[in-house]
Amino acid sequence: MIFEPDDIARLQRITKRGKDHLQAPERQDWARRCSSDLQEHVPWVWSERRQAWIQKTCMSAMVLTDAAGVEHRMVMASARGVIPKEVMPYLKAWGATVVPKDGERKHAEIRGVDYVEEIGGTLHAIGAGLDVCDPCDDRVRSKGIRPSTLTQRDRAANRGTIAGLTPGYRTPDQGPKKGPRK
Ligand SMILES: [Zn+2]
Repeated sequence: MIFEPDDIARLQRITKRGKDHLQAPERQDWARRCSSDLQEHVPWVWSERRQAWIQKTCMSAMVLTDAAGVEHRMVMASARGVIPKEVMPYLKAWGATVVPKDGERKHAEIRGVDYVEEIGGTLHAIGAGLDVCDPCDDRVRSKGIRPSTLTQRDRAANRGTIAGLTPGYRTPDQGPKKGPRK
């Protein structure tokens, strides 16, 4: 088979693009580790209402390919999308860019999925520093993937497996469960 110069250039472009891309498990891993790491740098503030220290911003990270098939690793924040200044220094280390401002108030994951849809891209992996809520989980699943990080549903399901909290389960000191006599 004889390759024309155009074919060779095209193959080289495809090969290069492939080399720049992460494999599927790496995309999941990147989204999980990046969002978790960035979340660690979000400052804690005291909430009078909740009487607890809270993080007001949720950080999310995603891997997407745009309409041309080029991979991007991007991060977004919740609420109005402002990245806390304490988090900014870590973006470069993760090789991540920030999703453009949209002037809206929404969850970080929703902001990410909205952006992917807006540019006609494909979402491959997305994670968040806080548990992914049900509406965000649903939205991510509508893209054919599952969040790369723990969801509130996961946490609720996990709680159900802890002895004593599972409906119908009794610990040994609660005595044997009485069933119908046979
Ligand atoms: Zn959410």
